[in-house]
Amino acid sequence: MAMRLVWFRNDLRCHGHTPLRQALAGAGPVLALYVLCPGQWDAHDVAPLRRWYVLESLRELGEELAARGVDLHVIDGGDFAGAVEVVQRFVADRGVTEVFCNREYPVNELNRDRAVARSLENTGVRIRGFDDGVLVPPRALNTGKGTPYTVFTAYKRRWDAWMEEKGPPLPETPRWPGGQGDFVGRATVRKALAELSVSPRLTELWQPGEAAAARQLERFVARDLAHYKNRRDIPCEAGTSGLSAALSAGTLAPAQAWWVARLAMRDAGVREGAACWIGELAWRDFYRQILHRFPMLAKGAPFRPETRLLQWNDNETLFNAWCQGRTGYPLVDAAMRQLLSTGWMHNRLRMLTAMFLTKHLFIDWRKGERFFMQHLIDGDVAANNGGWQWSASTGTDAAPYFRVFSPVRQSRRFDPQGHFIARYVPELAELDNDSVHEPWKQPLLSGDYPPPVVAHEGVKQRVEAAFRAARDTWRRQGEGAGSSGA
Ligand SMILES: Cc1cc2nc3c(=O)[nH]c(=O)nc-3n(C[C@H](O)[C@H](O)[C@H](O)COP(=O)(O)OP(=O)(O)OC[C@H]3O[C@@H](n4cnc5c(N)ncnc54)[C@H](O)[C@@H]3O)c2cc1C
Repeated sequence: MAMRLVWFRNDLRCHGHTPLRQALAGAGPVLALYVLCPGQWDAHDVAPLRRWYVLESLRELGEELAARGVDLHVIDGGDFAGAVEVVQRFVADRGVTEVFCNREYPVNELNRDRAVARSLENTGVRIRGFDDGVLVPPRALNTGKGTPYTVFTAYKRRWDAWMEEKGPPLPETPRWPGGQGDFVGRATVRKALAELSVSPRLTELWQPGEAAAARQLERFVARDLAHYKNRRDIPCEAGTSGLSAALSAGTLAPAQAWWVARLAMRDAGVREGAACWIGELAWRDFYRQILHRFPMLAKGAPFRPETRLLQWNDNETLFNAWCQGRTGYPLVDAAMRQLLSTGWMHNRLRMLTAMFLTKHLFIDWRKGERFFMQHLIDGDVAANNGGWQWSASTGTDAAPYFRVFSPVRQSRRFDPQGHFIARYVPELAELDNDSVHEPWKQPLLSGDYPPPVVAHEGVKQRVEAAFRAARDTWRRQGEGAGSSGA
């Protein structure tokens, strides 16, 4: 008899899960498996808060599947090499005839899946992969020359056309077998959670799991989607969806997010906000296809090869000031403290803090990328790498290297009343909404808040000179190591 296995990875949900639905559509029993890989988490600096989110979501998934008649096994594989062995053994021990899963595109995940496919090659077991993790699969769109898109605006035009023509169907819930299943992995998940060290101050701010993600999407669409375009850049307002953790762990299907926004567009008042939000889902796909098609990016390489020659500043004191939110620039510091105290940071502030680290302090973007991964609940290799390289002007679609955000101008523009600063930098509570952006002008009212660690004046010229020098050396070396590795 056919025995089907659904292998869950970063898709911890039941609704809008094509492998689960397809596996349950056939006759015969269906099992589910999740392989824990704490070694992989360690190697990629995955934040304890994100691990907690994943494990709690897995716990909810296991209970939900059991209530619907599907057993979820959770096995600790250690790392991806161990995961290959776990899947191979599980398939052999249980007489699995077909494996259903969603594809993952970064290089280590691809290598893991190839190794699993090889190990099952001569057993007659079929592997069926699906693309629910993205809206447009990462190899679907190419330029006229057959190369990947590396500029977002051109990619987005094709992405829109593809979605119109071949976009995913409205996500469905599977046809459940009925009866009571067994959450076989319950004890393993409990043990992994017990071994985590994560502050309850952080976990109490978040609700893991598919049900919470669905509620959050519903709330966002009903309340905020219409105003998204106008409010998305204002950090003190909850104007964005807050769904990044759900989308990166897969407690929410991207197709569900897209469909809900599309349907909301029938209301003319929501159309502009929804179109803008859908654009962010396209950015998510864009960086996924970039990471997939330029695998060296996952190994610390910049997209623009000449920027390998930049001479970054190694100053640990400055780096620590940035990490702790003590640079003397209020909005930069408020942002870093938001990250430390909530595990999340607003997009406008991710750009500001990343640009500040890499332009004002001229510290290597890889250090900031790593620090973000160590703290973000939504830490996602593709989006994080893309965001960091954009900000550092080393990436695709790069912010031109001569673009340097002024921390004071950004502060006056996006937090004019200083409400966001007040929330995270209480030392500045005595200052009015004008001087709160430049507290060094009112030293007596600024408590023990530090003066700026670096002056804004001169930064642009220094950055331009450094990029020019790197480019010139690169050219003199005959554009050395060649392409960016597509
Ligand atoms: C330096 C830097 C690092 C970043 N690191 C991450 C990361 O580790 N994980 C992550 O999910 N996002 C990252 N982003 C992108 C973005 O900041 C977050 O996705 C966003 O702030 C999440 O909040 P939200 O869910 O309310 O977003 P919304 O504005 O509601 O957007 C909806 C969804 O679209 C996606 N999205 C939005 N903006 C982007 C973007 N610029 N690139 C890719 N996807 C996007 C996310 O999945 C997000 O949940 C980073 C951006 C920068 C500049």
